This record gives sequence, C-alpha cells and structure tokens, in this order.
Amino acid sequence: MENCIFCKIIRGEIPATKIHEDEDTLAFLDIHPAAPVHFLLIPKLHIATLSDIDVQHQQLLGKMLWLAPRLAASQGCTDGFRTIINTGRVGGQEVFHLHIHVIGGKDRLPAMIHHG
Ligand code: AMP
Ligand code: ZN
Repeated sequence: MENCIFCKIIRGEIPATKIHEDEDTLAFLDIHPAAPVHFLLIPKLHIATLSDIDVQHQQLLGKMLWLAPRLAASQGCTDGFRTIINTGRVGGQEVFHLHIHVIGGKDRLPAMIHHG
C-alpha cells in the first residue's frame, strides 16, 4: 500500500522505534504516547481495519494477541496493560492499517467506559 504510513514504516521508508519484528508483525512506539508505555502492534499485511479481517487472518490475529502481553511485559508492564483497537469512523480510527494499541505504565489507567 503505497501511501499507508504504517506500510512505510514496515518498508523502512519512515523511521520508527521498533520493539519487535518478525515475518508477520511489527511493533513500534507510538509517536504521541498516551501513557508511559504505548506501542502499536501491526500486521505486515496491509489490512485497513478490524472490519476487513477474514477467516484466513485468524492465525495472524491470534499471533498478535499472543504477542501483545509478551511485548507489554518486555516494555515493563508488570501488572497489566490495556489493548485498544479503534475501528472506522465511529471508533475514531486515524490510521487505516490495522493496529493494536498497547498502553500501560505503573499507574492504573483512567476508565474508558463510563456507564449510564
Ligand atoms: P488510531 O487513532 O487508532 O488510528 O491511532 C493511530 C496512532 O498512530 C496514534 O496513536 C498516533 O499517535 C500513531 N502514529 C501516527 N503516526 C505515527 C508514526 N509515524 N509513528 C508512530 N506512531 C504513529
Ligand atoms: Zn498499510
């Protein structure tokens, strides 16, 4: 995907602070961190949103969810973390290359879901 910013990071065309790379996935620090730990875990395959995943992506998505806690631990999240996938307009997605935000630090994060 020519103009996708995360595909450019995968291709090494723009810099990022990478914390993990394998044949299927890449993880790098978010440029505007929302907490002391904030990285993005992405598939190397350009998939625009979570709504675009198909049955053949099950293994890839499973791998990403398997990786998330391991990478979080490697970044110092010893007592939990938060994962977020923003999807589409309503979800507030800004970069249309599927990514899992992993956010944490030593302090409890503010509640994201406010009831009633
Ligand atoms: P979302 O709103 O879920 O699409 O989140 C996109 C995220 O990508 C935001 O948290 C941005 O700070 C982050 N971001 C955008 N450009 C870059 C970049 N070049 N390197 C690292 N993170 C980025
Ligand atoms: Zn892309």
